[in-house]
Amino acid sequence: MRIGVLAIQGDVREHRRHLERLGVAALEVRRPAELSGLAGLIMPGGESSTIGMLMTESGLLDALHAKMAEGFPVYGTCAGMILLANHVQGARGASPTWLGGLDVTVARNAYGRQVQSFEADISVSALAPEPVHVVFIRAPRILSAGSAVRVLGELDGEPVLVEQGTILASSFHPELTDDLRIHRYFAAKALRFQEEVAAQPAR
Ligand code: GLN
Repeated sequence: MRIGVLAIQGDVREHRRHLERLGVAALEVRRPAELSGLAGLIMPGGESSTIGMLMTESGLLDALHAKMAEGFPVYGTCAGMILLANHVQGARGASPTWLGGLDVTVARNAYGRQVQSFEADISVSALAPEPVHVVFIRAPRILSAGSAVRVLGELDGEPVLVEQGTILASSFHPELTDDLRIHRYFAAKALRFQEEVAAQPAR
């Protein structure tokens, strides 16, 4: 199985290494053609407005949007989650919605500035009994979530890891610690998608 890592900004190498440790081939994605043959895509953190603009220019935004309509799994971390959110609040009011597909309202930078970055143990009772140690860097806050959104992980009672169908999103960075559980959870989603596609009659 091959999973792509959007290689515009952020911890591309760290995400690739986590996938490779799980035995998954990790490919860097910059152009629409590089999406073909993938079982899923991880969108790392960075600056969501910059990533969104560069994805628009390359045609990747439209290509990914079309694939997501067919159930292609995407995991957005931090800025990646902002790109997936249906509603985004920025420091100066509403920001554009880039990809959408995840029925949440997020507030950018709502966990504080870069210097206020922190590590935390988050409870992911839906996935594992033990908490997961993760890093928050100018993280977006999930202000509200629609009924189709399932909360998988919380920090102080607030959602920080959510899924909706084949979309997974987190406020935090799971690639900066040694814990592979969240990548493993996404890889399982991607594998299910790949098996479903393989079972479909050729069109
Ligand atoms: N603050 C960034 C944004 O609004 C996200 C930060 C991150 O990805 N670490 O896009």
